[in-house]
Amino acid sequence: MSDSDTHDPTSLRTPIVAVLGHVDHGKTSLLDKIRGSAVIEGEAGAITQHIGATAVPLDVISSIAGELVDPDDFDLPGLLFIDTPGHHSFTTLRSRGGALADIAILVVDVNDGFQPQTLEALDILQRSQTPFIVAANKIDTVPGWNANEDSPINATYEAQSDRVRERLDESLYEIIGNLSDEGFSADLYWRVQNFQRNVGVVPVSAMTGEGVPDLLAVMMGLSQRYMKEEMEIDVAGPGVGTVLEVKEEKGFGKTVDLVLYDGTLRADDTIVVGGTNEPIVTDVRALLQPRPLEEIRTESRFEKVDEVSAATGIKVAAPDLGDAIAGAPVRVVRDRERADVIAEVEDELASIAVDTEETGVVVKADTLGSLEAMADALEEAEVPIVRAEVGDVAPRDVSVASTAEEGKEQVILGFNVDVLGDAEQRAEIEDVRVFTDEVIYQLIEEYEEFVDELERAQQDTILENIVRPARFRILPDHTFRQNDPAVVGVEVNSGTIQNNTNVVKFEGNEPERVGQVKGIQEQGEDVDEARAGNRVSVAIDGPTVGRQIEEDDELWTELPEKHAKILEQELSSEIPGDELEALNMYLDKQRSRDPFWGK
Ligand code: GDP
Repeated sequence: MSDSDTHDPTSLRTPIVAVLGHVDHGKTSLLDKIRGSAVIEGEAGAITQHIGATAVPLDVISSIAGELVDPDDFDLPGLLFIDTPGHHSFTTLRSRGGALADIAILVVDVNDGFQPQTLEALDILQRSQTPFIVAANKIDTVPGWNANEDSPINATYEAQSDRVRERLDESLYEIIGNLSDEGFSADLYWRVQNFQRNVGVVPVSAMTGEGVPDLLAVMMGLSQRYMKEEMEIDVAGPGVGTVLEVKEEKGFGKTVDLVLYDGTLRADDTIVVGGTNEPIVTDVRALLQPRPLEEIRTESRFEKVDEVSAATGIKVAAPDLGDAIAGAPVRVVRDRERADVIAEVEDELASIAVDTEETGVVVKADTLGSLEAMADALEEAEVPIVRAEVGDVAPRDVSVASTAEEGKEQVILGFNVDVLGDAEQRAEIEDVRVFTDEVIYQLIEEYEEFVDELERAQQDTILENIVRPARFRILPDHTFRQNDPAVVGVEVNSGTIQNNTNVVKFEGNEPERVGQVKGIQEQGEDVDEARAGNRVSVAIDGPTVGRQIEEDDELWTELPEKHAKILEQELSSEIPGDELEALNMYLDKQRSRDPFWGK
């Protein structure tokens, strides 16, 4: 703190709100509705359009929410909504502590209920420990609904028929049940006493505005009650923020859009920004805000400002920003040692860096935050990572993946990234599998399916090359030839007799090899194998009937010890039950002699 004697250094910043949920459940509509209501309710300029975010001040919230929000009860300045909804921008917008957003709205369509991205959003919220409320959206689509534009939920609910209310209740309880299945204790928001322990569900319509007053009131209340301390910042201190996007801007070159969550950023500041190779140290050339709609002239969509304070979204034009990465930290140097600030940024980048192993899959993602989310999800799925980077899938990623020893690691998982043309070609040549998706857990599911398939195929090949167990009996009066080779009729009791396998007979528990199968015939036709229950004639090279073998003898296929071990330890669930029975009987016999046989 440099000049604390000249001003009160702390002030309360605006809580940052993110909107998440499954596609088409109404995230964008809800944000539009809140912005639209704010414009209608407020005086001109009531809401401030920032870069990537919209600030709704307390007095506007209070006029939308009516008696639900008394401005005297609050000292937080309002709410800052991140304009880009979805968990992708949520994970991108990380801060030192984890998620940049202080609070989230999880939108769930009352008709559609929980969907894959709802679950994924919940997972992300839980990991980042972000408090959230659930907006049960589209209540106006409940059959028979009578809309009361912009009404608080209580009033419009009371105005519906019994049947409509029942239908809505059913949908809401289903959502509450789903939340509970995922380990969240939830209830309709007016029944929630402690929002730290319970998730509040707010029925809303982004179309009619019903329930929007409640949604704003709950968020305001939650922030004021539980987050006030976190909102205390040194407002004049050096700014701290996160890169939202790196963009080419006509007349300004490469710019970064960032969300500032602490301190102040000035047009003459030097900043340190996380980059692909090393932190970028650069001097701000201009701070840009969107120009209010009515002022847009030909020259620029932006207007220059001298200074901004947290929380806000701002576009920064400065040299050397080409290597800046989305999700990376930004810090103002001001009157501190440049090296110290660089070290802070490096520390922060290192804390995001993914732990990699000697072998594993290659992971690519579009932002640091999403890379981190991927790494977390893969760790949970116990998938090791050999390399994790922000960026599109490039030929050198294919080279890395191709050196993996196991097929299941000759893989690239790309989240929200493109596969460059030459990388695709290369992957085909090098037999590297590339999976891409825009939903993390779908991506991981696809990969797991691939691994399962691969393992099944591998087991099939092993099974083809392994001697299978069989127990069979020579039938009485079925000696067709005494020797060279002996040909006898047999019944297979369990397992599978295969051609060219050795045959043993147990004397007590002592196995004695009697010969080798040199042909199997079933009803006069040559066959390769005979299954349990079959009666076949087999040619056995070696013994003479009446000497080494006799009619009514029980014979076995000889299992090499190594094969018996693989069968027992790896393939016991792959082979038929009768084969397993033959295997176990065989193992019992061998182990009564040598307890460690085949272990
Ligand atoms: P997003 O993908 O979650 O951002 O969803 P959108 O906001 O784009 O909404 C998807 C569709 O649902 C659009 O056609 C919206 O008009 C519609 N929609 C969103 N909210 C509501 C609502 O409360 N009521 C009704 N009837 N339709 C809605």
